[in-house]
Amino acid sequence: MGLLALGTALDWPEAKKRADQVRKWGIEQLLANWRRAKSKERDALLWGDEVEYLVVALDDEAKKAQLSLAQAEILQSLAVDEALWKAGGAHTQTHHAGHEGERPPHFHPEFGRFMLEATPGRPWGIDFKDLLKVESDMKWRRVIAKAHMKPNEYPITLTTFPRLGLGDYIQPYYPPSGPALRSQFVPDKIANPHIRFPTLAANIRSRRGRKVEINVPVFKDTNTLEPFNDPTVNYDLHNWPEDDDVRNGAVKEGHVYMDAMAFGMGSCCLQITFQAKNMTEGRKLYDQLSPLGPILLALTAATPIYKGFLVDTDVRWNQISRAVDDRTREELGEVPLKEDRWRIPKSRYASNSTYISQDPRLRKEYLDPDLVVDEEIKKRLTDEGMDDLLATHFAHLFIRDPLVIFSEDLDELDLTKADHFENLQSTNWQHMRFKPPPPEKPEIGWRVEFRSMEVQMTDFENAAFSIFIVLVTRAILSFDLNFYIPIPRTTENMETAHARDAIHTRKFYFRKDPFPRPAQRRQNQSPNGVSTPPPSPPSGPVELEYGQMTISEIINGSTEGFPGLIPLVQSYLNSVNVDVETRCALERYLALIRKRADGTLWTGSRWIREFVASHPEYKHDSVVSERICYDLVKAVEEMTTKEGKDGSVGWELLRGKE
Ligand code: ADP
Ligand code: MG
Ligand code: MG
Ligand code: MG
Repeated sequence: MGLLALGTALDWPEAKKRADQVRKWGIEQLLANWRRAKSKERDALLWGDEVEYLVVALDDEAKKAQLSLAQAEILQSLAVDEALWKAGGAHTQTHHAGHEGERPPHFHPEFGRFMLEATPGRPWGIDFKDLLKVESDMKWRRVIAKAHMKPNEYPITLTTFPRLGLGDYIQPYYPPSGPALRSQFVPDKIANPHIRFPTLAANIRSRRGRKVEINVPVFKDTNTLEPFNDPTVNYDLHNWPEDDDVRNGAVKEGHVYMDAMAFGMGSCCLQITFQAKNMTEGRKLYDQLSPLGPILLALTAATPIYKGFLVDTDVRWNQISRAVDDRTREELGEVPLKEDRWRIPKSRYASNSTYISQDPRLRKEYLDPDLVVDEEIKKRLTDEGMDDLLATHFAHLFIRDPLVIFSEDLDELDLTKADHFENLQSTNWQHMRFKPPPPEKPEIGWRVEFRSMEVQMTDFENAAFSIFIVLVTRAILSFDLNFYIPIPRTTENMETAHARDAIHTRKFYFRKDPFPRPAQRRQNQSPNGVSTPPPSPPSGPVELEYGQMTISEIINGSTEGFPGLIPLVQSYLNSVNVDVETRCALERYLALIRKRADGTLWTGSRWIREFVASHPEYKHDSVVSERICYDLVKAVEEMTTKEGKDGSVGWELLRGKE
């Protein structure tokens, strides 16, 4: 968003020298913005989703699937069409039944040159009817995107391309390696050519002092090599100093090894942004949605393959985290601190580490004991009147260095902009993001983004998860729900979510009683939105407040313990006026979430694993061959577009054994 201004990007040694200036200016911009916007009130409850796509080219004769590096051409063609639409001329955008007169979706570039992102033409409103437009809007986006692609190209919502980094998996073909990524598997051309992206990748590598290192445990099938040493690694390259990495132990036995930002930031996700009515409410949503991040990550699991191998994890998260981990050896704690300021426990892409709501229920014991903050920055913020919690949050984000600095931006500090602030804010990729109003758009309020979900193969699923999270936020606000658990438990949950089939084999830390005042609940079983006096600070051991639960218990509830997110959403729907038709339609989406949690429906990961395992060409050696990859992508494409056409519903293919 607003990050694509052109200029001269500094390489790392130069950028490092200017890091303090950017941080200082960023904090001044934040303060100016915060002063202007902190008492903004009565903003509308708006929200919007972001869906990311891979552009896949299928060769049905050769039975080959490749990524198409066609992002620029497709976006250009879309832009021409959008201009035509605005001018009222002939265009493809609105040629889709049911969308006449509606604002066509927006398309955005992403890191990978094989990726697209689409968002609704305008944010969704509070009306329940808007929830019912989401799925068809998502389908419309696919139709429009497809109309701007070559006949054999398709927008696919797999989180990762199964054979990214192997052989001739891209089109047009470029051999691996280049000055920015220095990868032995992918060329620099795989990244969006805008100077921001190669600079980002190069400066992460350069700051870190070696290439990024992504080792994912391989899935051990009956014929998998044992010991497994990634057979695709070349130990004999001498083109870049970084080619030494593999000779210095970067590759771990039993793991699939990857060495570039593209393996992480080339993944697709589903994100939801909510606008709160004011800053206080935004801060509350940020905190209350945070413990849900890992739960929704596990529920949306869709990433079982990397670089041609089945892996033993089900989600993308940690791979992205490692793909942009710019920490030095000192910051990682591998060598004593000399040059750097502190040891940092998490990558800049990681689960979030702060709570920010001024809520009496927020106990000190919930905060992250390992939190690193820049005390000087925090002091600057508190001296200017920002409260401790919020100042701590930003002083934590600002422990990082700015990675991409344009020299043109360093001449003069403009307090009516947020470019330096956004430089740090938007490269802190945490699972929640607290977004202040953009200074140049006063109509926008305080927003919170929920960022952990994996993109789903079908739009029915993507809509269902979007709608579910929206309804959860409404229930949180309406019932004043309390999901607080200690932040380190959420951090652990994020790891747990990676396990193969975590939703059935693992338990997650979750708060047992979500109601604001336990005593009152006993008298009044149904929490139907009665206004309650402000909650009082809880007491007693924190460890008794939460327990370990299965995803099904968290989503569907259990008779003894947690009531379940779906029953909470349903009580919320019972407490408001929803017409029967709308309610039925919403229940159809909620059913997907319920059934996914209880095992009636499979996760995308499970479905992909079953697809590979039952493929005639699969030798039970964890290898996902070109042909398997083609058949998989083809099946996903058909599942996606089949929806509604012949009466069968694509997502129902995700049905488990009932
Ligand atoms: P980013 O990539 O920085 O997260 P995007 O602009 O790609 O941001 O997406 C933001 C999402 O927020 C979109 O779905 C958009 O519709 C939605 N959105 C835009 N304005 C608002 C608003 N005022 N309140 C809530 N959501 C909004
Ligand atoms: Mg976006
Ligand atoms: Mg995106
Ligand atoms: Mg986003």
